[in-house]
Amino acid sequence: MTDGDRVRELDDATVAQIAAGEVVERPASVVKELVENSLDAGAASIDVTVESGGRDRIVVADDGHGMTGEDLQAAVRQHTTSKLSDASELDAVATLGFRGEALYTIGSVSRMTVTTRARDAGDSGATLTVEHGDVGDVRPAGRPAGTTVEVADLFAETPARRKYLKRPATEFAHVNRAVTRYALANPEVAVSLTHDGREVFATTGTGDVRDAALSVYGREVAQSLVPVDATPDGPVERVHGYVSEPETTRSTREYLATYVNGRSVRDSVLREAVLDAYGGQLASDRYPFTVLFVETEGVDANVHPRKMEVRFEQEDRVQAAVEDAVRDALLDAGIVRSQAPRG
Ligand code: ADP
Ligand code: MG
Repeated sequence: MTDGDRVRELDDATVAQIAAGEVVERPASVVKELVENSLDAGAASIDVTVESGGRDRIVVADDGHGMTGEDLQAAVRQHTTSKLSDASELDAVATLGFRGEALYTIGSVSRMTVTTRARDAGDSGATLTVEHGDVGDVRPAGRPAGTTVEVADLFAETPARRKYLKRPATEFAHVNRAVTRYALANPEVAVSLTHDGREVFATTGTGDVRDAALSVYGREVAQSLVPVDATPDGPVERVHGYVSEPETTRSTREYLATYVNGRSVRDSVLREAVLDAYGGQLASDRYPFTVLFVETEGVDANVHPRKMEVRFEQEDRVQAAVEDAVRDALLDAGIVRSQAPRG
């Protein structure tokens, strides 16, 4: 047995960098975690700025409740969260994040600076930098209430992972999709996205999904949106939101946004339900724009925490409820004429 075959304990930084892959695989995953934190902090406005698709720099700034210097010190460490104190509360968490590992993980694979000021605290603000797992000191910093997290040099010290990043345009497409989904689902929050100095969109935070869609997708799409609102019997409590007229489509599924109990999911049951509701009115390989919220019981959201997948206990009933809700909306709008037979 050579020395290289010995079982050795990995140092903490290496363990952290390996584990990081579970949470952070690309710039969009960083953006997702940071935007979720901003939403959890009750922000009224969230500004996302990225450079080179997030490969060079990611900044998420919010006006949420912020942190004290003491909280900041704790927040960048592993399994620290203000959202959960023991496992028995797991079922009850309403906030998006609760694992207490996002900031720790991001800090282990980048140069991360968090600058924050607590809304109801006496101190003026604090800043802290973590360089690839190396936690610096908390220093005072003046700023208004809220939090700004800047992430640079993602995966600079894990070249194997950096190698898997795609070109900036591709990484930006992932970032854009993630921020868009949050912006549409949280129309009461003013969300902006800027890439390489160019503002891609900025929602106004009116609380109206249609206003958010106007900011994100433009007038043509916003005007084509038909409201959906149904309260079916059974496990599904409510289906609401908007779907586009069958003339306003794209050749990718990307704009067919569905949310289950507030969380963005990609799910074939919901997608098929929506497409079937159009009763043959969609051209082949064309997909509508949707911002569709499904509130339901009987969902297992732990299929994979990162992959936005869910499993429904009563899949058929969920599919039927969503299809009926969308078809009724299209019928009301005079778009689908008669009850199409369900296949
Ligand atoms: P989690 O979100 O699972 O609690 P994170 O590592 O994402 O874990 O964040 C750790 C803690 O840092 C949070 O519980 C919260 O108290 C604090 N925090 C993170 N981001 C923000 C933010 N934008 N505004 C206020 N507090 C934040
Ligand atoms: Mg979090």
